[in-house]
Amino acid sequence: MDKNRRHFIQKTGILATATGLAPQLFFANTDRTLDKLGVALVGLGYYSTEVLAPALQLTKHCKLRGIVTGSPEKVPLWQKKYGIADKNVYSYDNFNTIANNPDIDVVYVVLPPGLHAEYAIKAAETGKHVWCEKPMARTVAECEAMIQACKEAKVKLAIGYRCQHDPNVQFFQKMGKTRPFGLPKIISCTAGYVDLRTDHWKQNKKLGGGVMGDMGVYALQSARMVTGEEPIMVSAQASTTRPEIYTEVEETMSFQLTFPSGTIASCQSSFGTRTNNLHVAYEKGWLKMDPHSAYSGNKGKLSDGTLIDFPLPNQQAAQMDNDARSIIQDTPMLVPGEEGLQDIRVIEAIYRAAENNCSVAIP
Ligand code: NAD
Repeated sequence: MDKNRRHFIQKTGILATATGLAPQLFFANTDRTLDKLGVALVGLGYYSTEVLAPALQLTKHCKLRGIVTGSPEKVPLWQKKYGIADKNVYSYDNFNTIANNPDIDVVYVVLPPGLHAEYAIKAAETGKHVWCEKPMARTVAECEAMIQACKEAKVKLAIGYRCQHDPNVQFFQKMGKTRPFGLPKIISCTAGYVDLRTDHWKQNKKLGGGVMGDMGVYALQSARMVTGEEPIMVSAQASTTRPEIYTEVEETMSFQLTFPSGTIASCQSSFGTRTNNLHVAYEKGWLKMDPHSAYSGNKGKLSDGTLIDFPLPNQQAAQMDNDARSIIQDTPMLVPGEEGLQDIRVIEAIYRAAENNCSVAIP
């Protein structure tokens, strides 16, 4: 049933695009509209509770219809707040039966990164489209398995890189392609906050902790977007000022990226310092963003006086609406699995460089 519906969505999406008709017309005789996809959140921690669920209420093309949780005590509150039906509440044990639930079109994995691959693959096997939080997974092998599972199930996969849906970030991403100031020569980028938790998955290696995947990925993403290129060489230094807490993973990661055109990016990410800025020295000017990867208020300036300060009502709502539209219209995801994989490829090289105190070439 669900697979039929999904293929129906894909087909009608194509048809709607081809005819120029509004996609919702194709669901005129059902209680469902093709312009609103049912989303199930997997994992009801901070990001689902405080950010994604409220943002879903602001979307045009999504409806929060399902939850998957290992904490039964959370269920009544979520059902009451968001009107989630009993039949759309799942535990991790019966999660696979979501396959038979026509209310759900998209499964959004919002678990610790060490569980992303397992649940994204399980989600793909149910025939639902998959959205997965960043970092995509712990290893390149896990990312590749996720991409393969979605390919085999003929479902779409998007990674929750919210910043790529922000017009302020898109502005400097576009400069990486059009190069109005010539080549970027030197990039300096930071991303960090003070995490006072002492026993969390961010400090646990198996669960995918460590600052590099958590905050470092924003500095890495911005450097890649500024250049429009992929780094070919990295060096890196891992450190901690709280060794009693960060016993398995790094509290701070400094890393340097070399790009094919010769651009050098120097990046810092930390769970011990609040920082979020991006400075770029181009051949013929500069860009400063402060912040560059926040939930809201990303803004900056160019050396010619141009201000970068586009309004964006809600970044995550924009992300989820864009990703829903890609499903409805059967167009490529703005941030597909391959984009998450590329970061993990670089991150694996960064860890090798930090461990061996050397430069590492990226394949
Ligand atoms: P969190 O610790 O607040 O929530 C994690 C959830 O996973 C909890 O509900 C927990 O019960 C559940 N869980 C299930 N199995 C678990 C296990 N074995 N160990 C630990 N928790 C388990 O974390 P969070 O901050 O909500 O982060 C969740 C995901 O969202 C991560 O991938 C994180 O990187 C991502 N995230 C993204 C952004 C962003 O800006 N895109 C921001 C915050 C978090």
